[in-house]
Amino acid sequence: MRVATIIVAAGQGTRLGGEVAKQYQLLGGEPVLTRAIKGALAAPQMDAVLVAIHPDAGALYEESIAPISDQRLLPPVHGGEQRSDTVRLALEALADDPPAAVLIHDAARPFASPALYAALAEQALKGDGAIAAEPVVDALWREADGLADTPAPRAGLWRAQTPQAFPFTTLLAAHRADREPALDDAEVFRRAGGTVHLVPGEPENFKITTAADMDRAARILEGAMSDIRLGHGFDVHRFCPGDHVWLCGVRIGHDQGLEGHSDADVGLHALTDAIYGAIGDGDIGQHFPPSDPQWKGAESHVFLAHAGERVAARGGRIANLDVTLLCERPKIGAHAAAMKARIGEILALEPGRISIKATTMERMGFVGREEGMGALATATVTLGRS
Ligand code: MG
Repeated sequence: MRVATIIVAAGQGTRLGGEVAKQYQLLGGEPVLTRAIKGALAAPQMDAVLVAIHPDAGALYEESIAPISDQRLLPPVHGGEQRSDTVRLALEALADDPPAAVLIHDAARPFASPALYAALAEQALKGDGAIAAEPVVDALWREADGLADTPAPRAGLWRAQTPQAFPFTTLLAAHRADREPALDDAEVFRRAGGTVHLVPGEPENFKITTAADMDRAARILEGAMSDIRLGHGFDVHRFCPGDHVWLCGVRIGHDQGLEGHSDADVGLHALTDAIYGAIGDGDIGQHFPPSDPQWKGAESHVFLAHAGERVAARGGRIANLDVTLLCERPKIGAHAAAMKARIGEILALEPGRISIKATTMERMGFVGREEGMGALATATVTLGRS
């Protein structure tokens, strides 16, 4: 193993308000910690990510990592009393299969870029320490009795961020030998005789501490999610003898059935294709070939859930879905709420983002003659800019 990241998430800080520690609070629908973990996993040449959590936060942690299925995310370790204890315990957990370089990162900094990880890891792989930091640009004043008293020179002052990167064995030895209070891992590493480079940090890599920071983070995320994609889908199925139809995931009694390889849910098929279309990811037939017997009689929620997973895998979110069913009968109105609820359940999407409508074809065409049904759908997806 060459490079590993330790994410320090053992704090219980609720300074910004809310029921749970800040790293578990939702930012754009996802815990801050989840975003920090995904950021570390996205860094080039990252071999392992280990999170140090508070012993009481096991359930919150499991919930946070539910959307991540990546073998490189190791089982969590419990942190200690002080931050430095937490880092030491996490380093010990990696000692059996030690990486060459380790990066230590705060859970509350969800926006560190892959390039920043790479620049820091490069120094550590050469045998030195490196910290992300930004030069101080504000005037500095020492205060006395609430008044500006003495100007302080800012020349040569840097504000440290994380990640901080170090050669693993040297940092572990330094933490084992040195239990004195320290600002951060750079201080522990320097006291052990190491050299620490200053690597230019990133303004967006700030630490979420207050409610205002959370708002700022949400605004950054909104900006980053402005890559908006629209997809449309269309499907038809022929009526056949039967006593029910499946429409948008709901079974509706009818004097005919719909013919198809799967359950012939024309609504879910159009919708699934709309989602695939929005992310340029083929169509149902490509992902679930009708020639493959395993999809014979398949329930169409499987297709829809798959499309939703493909969006999530791209770091995207479904903004809204709109379905129009084309049929003379059955009447859809009474079932629309159940359809919305079912689609929301399959995609973990609030029903307010889902629309179900229906129209007849005024007795014209194949729909008008009740030979079959059609469905049209659109899906809007927002993706992060990359
Ligand atoms: Mg179909």
